[in-house]
Amino acid sequence: MRVYLCGVRGSTPSPGAEFLRYGGHTSCVALAREDAAQPALVLDAGTGLRRLTPLLGGAPFRGTILLTHLHWDHVQGLPFFAAGDRPDARVSLLLPEQEDGAGAEQALAKNMSPPSFPIEPSELRGEWTFGTVAARPLEAEGFTVEARRIPHKGGATVGYRVSDGHSVLTYMPDHCPTVCGPGPEGWGEYHPAALDLARDTDLLIHDAFLMPAEVPELAAFGHAAADYAIGLGQRAGARHVLLAHHKPDRTDDELDRLAARVAGTGATVAAEGAMIRL
Ligand SMILES: [Zn+2]
Ligand SMILES: [Zn+2]
Repeated sequence: MRVYLCGVRGSTPSPGAEFLRYGGHTSCVALAREDAAQPALVLDAGTGLRRLTPLLGGAPFRGTILLTHLHWDHVQGLPFFAAGDRPDARVSLLLPEQEDGAGAEQALAKNMSPPSFPIEPSELRGEWTFGTVAARPLEAEGFTVEARRIPHKGGATVGYRVSDGHSVLTYMPDHCPTVCGPGPEGWGEYHPAALDLARDTDLLIHDAFLMPAEVPELAAFGHAAADYAIGLGQRAGARHVLLAHHKPDRTDDELDRLAARVAGTGATVAAEGAMIRL
């Protein structure tokens, strides 16, 4: 499969000269089967979703969008997704089952409706359907997808494990493992849901919002340290770890230093605009 990194920033976009090389768009990864001309499965709909429209070369989007959760940095690209907001688009959007029992469209409309935003999900043009991801694996756009609940903060959050029958990608951009305990290094517990999602995966794209020294003060915001992502990848047998969901004020120079520090582990730092072939 081909993996397009359309947005690798966390929390809020980071425009500005200090963020050009790793990018400022929030969470969005688009996947194409190797035999497909264009991406048809999208993980999260942060502002990076805007980058998918030019990748489709003028064609409408016909595919599935899976949301890990409903925080702003994972949904704000939806109404600005030109290839998905046109009469000939066909979009199936799935999100985690909500803790309050709200339906998918109703849950999405909470922050996408007046007065917070001019339009509601139902006003997106094209054929949009809204649903929730269940515990059992689902088939979408030629991929098999498993979702597992993982700890984060503020609302149901899942991680995804996606297979095209040849390669496996694991996606956990927002994950707070310290909720389960301090773990061996104080960066959080290597708990069963995270290990199962990442088991023998070809590529683990994981929350690296924090540096280890920031964990005591900032873990309560709901995120993981870069070094936890590497530890999880090692324990689960992941072949490659990609550090993502960068803190909004983490500059290119700081991310270069992170890349240099973790180079010996084989992990790399996600940069917007990259395409990875699995
Ligand atoms: Zn996030
Ligand atoms: Zn979040």
